[in-house]
Amino acid sequence: MKSWNCIACGKEIEVEDDYEPQYCCDGRDCTCMGQPVNPAFCDECETKIFRQQALQQEPEEKGK
Ligand SMILES: [Zn+2]
Ligand SMILES: [Zn+2]
Repeated sequence: MKSWNCIACGKEIEVEDDYEPQYCCDGRDCTCMGQPVNPAFCDECETKIFRQQALQQEPEEKGK
């Protein structure tokens, strides 16, 4: 493991020794926004983002 920084909050985290951020492109005209395709997040941010994605995928059927 080696230390890295969470891409969302900057907190120091540990990643696999062979982790390297891989970029899709420089973000111009692309939805990747120049962010790595395999971003490293701390546990907190990972949980947050995971929840957000789960919420977004949930169909809105209950709306009043
Ligand atoms: Zn974080
Ligand atoms: Zn891209």
